[in-house]
Amino acid sequence: MRPMEQAESRDSQPVMTRARALLRSVFGYESFRGSQGPIIESVVAGQNALVLMPTGGGKSLCYQIPALLRPGTAVVVSPLIALMRDQVEALKHNGVRAACLNSSLDPDERREVEAALWSSQLDLIYVAPEKLLSGFFLDRLAGLEIALFAIDEAHCVSQWGHDFRPEYMRLDVLRQRFPQVPRIALTATADTRTRREIEQQLLSDGAETWVSSFDRPNIRYQVGPKLNARDQLLGFIHQRHRDASGIVYCLSRKKTESVAEWLNSRGVTALPYHAGLSANERATHQRRFLQEDGVVIVATVAFGMGIDKPDVRFVAHLDLPKSMESYYQETGRAGRDGLAADAWMVYGLQDVYQVRQLLAQSNAGLEQQQAERRRLESLLGFCESTDCRRQQLLAYFGEDHPGECGNCDNCLNPPETWDATEPARMFLSCVYRSGQRYGAAHVIDILRGSVSEKIRRAGHDRLSTFGIGHHVDKKTWYSVARQLLARGYLETDPEGHGGVRLAPDCRPLLRGEQTLAIRRDAAGPTRRSRSATRGDGQHPEGWEALRRCRREQAEAEGVPPYVIFHDATLMEM
Ligand code: ADP
Ligand code: MG
Repeated sequence: MRPMEQAESRDSQPVMTRARALLRSVFGYESFRGSQGPIIESVVAGQNALVLMPTGGGKSLCYQIPALLRPGTAVVVSPLIALMRDQVEALKHNGVRAACLNSSLDPDERREVEAALWSSQLDLIYVAPEKLLSGFFLDRLAGLEIALFAIDEAHCVSQWGHDFRPEYMRLDVLRQRFPQVPRIALTATADTRTRREIEQQLLSDGAETWVSSFDRPNIRYQVGPKLNARDQLLGFIHQRHRDASGIVYCLSRKKTESVAEWLNSRGVTALPYHAGLSANERATHQRRFLQEDGVVIVATVAFGMGIDKPDVRFVAHLDLPKSMESYYQETGRAGRDGLAADAWMVYGLQDVYQVRQLLAQSNAGLEQQQAERRRLESLLGFCESTDCRRQQLLAYFGEDHPGECGNCDNCLNPPETWDATEPARMFLSCVYRSGQRYGAAHVIDILRGSVSEKIRRAGHDRLSTFGIGHHVDKKTWYSVARQLLARGYLETDPEGHGGVRLAPDCRPLLRGEQTLAIRRDAAGPTRRSRSATRGDGQHPEGWEALRRCRREQAEAEGVPPYVIFHDATLMEM
């Protein structure tokens, strides 16, 4: 057969036969995963597509194979240089003619890539959105045969999301200038709002939508109260993942370093990773994580996008992620090989305070603030809930899970709830009476009748709420405070001095029109309390006398706006 005829006969084979041949010969895989097959078929036929698939689900093949099957060069828009580079390297390794154009190329490299592109020598070109949108580039593209446009990480178009990229908004120019070229938008963020925005901005002339399940049945989700985070983490690693690869996420660069150092001192091979390290260090740490067994990387969220290591056995969060989406994406880096893996998180009052504070200080527009608030509420609700974690997570992405999963912490050890109405009312009243300026630790000291210098100076040992909660232990008080803040009964003070104040929503609870059941925190590894409480039934005046005195005091003060205390329970005035 002459080459020409051979090509023709190959082209006349059914599309899917050719697609499967490429899957095997180029990518080395036996079969398509999930809806990859039908998506590829549809895109090759020239349909626009919106692909919603979890991270690690295999979105790339959905445009890479059509890129090879359709005539011309496929143009892939990707937001991160590192992502592009990894993908292009992998493709070249498989013998595909791929290249990228972005600011990281030196002039010689750029010239070489452009020469190949404009002479139709490339199957795929990866470009940063700003590069694609430059007038010159678009004009030259118009003279080229284009197989398709793939818009990866398409949620970057969402103004309400946290990865918003203004240039993504301008990609609608592709629809206007290249109406005949199919567009495929891909993302792992599937909430309905983001989805609507992608459709409106990028695909308003119609597209087939492909939604894959977000379920990761091999991941065990666990969320617990933060007591002494490092000990808890070490306990978890020792118990479940000795000598395994894992990722530990922290909020700050400094913390990644101190936690890594600490883990090393306890015999766990751990390396920090954050944007403040030199490029060389980052590359070395990443390489060791990918190539060696049993390396734990302690990272900020700068680490992960585009990291494709199948046998990560656990992802641990020492600080709250930004949202449910982030939680899902970050935990989704565990167990890509399908074997059992853990998503483990601890969080505490301070975390809730921090995210609430960020939100309160946000100077975003009103609508965006509301969206941020909703996202935060979902995450906090998820953390405090006693329901099946997997069910909740999937429900967030609009998916039903049939029955409980039987594998998450809440399924394996159903948490108790307890009636925290009275302590909650005590706490809220004490916040009010101490002037709504103090942090939870101080409020708890007042409640427990702790006579510290700070308390005395503020005159808080004379408050009617002083000592009324002496019978409740400190850990429980922190749990109550955290859950009050998480559920929106308390707010952070707007100046950011660390204080808490009453939120409008707390009124019915304070007035006794509402009860509050909260989860009982599991006990963690214990550490001796360093509190200087004189109380615990040992108050010098004796609790009975103290209560009497408080009652008289409250009466003398006139009608308090909410409640006064009587015999350690609350009474309405
Ligand atoms: P996403 O972009 O959805 O996060 P990727 O396209 O990066 O996911 O794919 C994740 C991993 O799954 C990659 O290692 C990829 O090679 C692998 N993969 C994708 N499709 C298949 C398949 N059909 N069979 C086996 N492995 C696959
Ligand atoms: Mg991807």
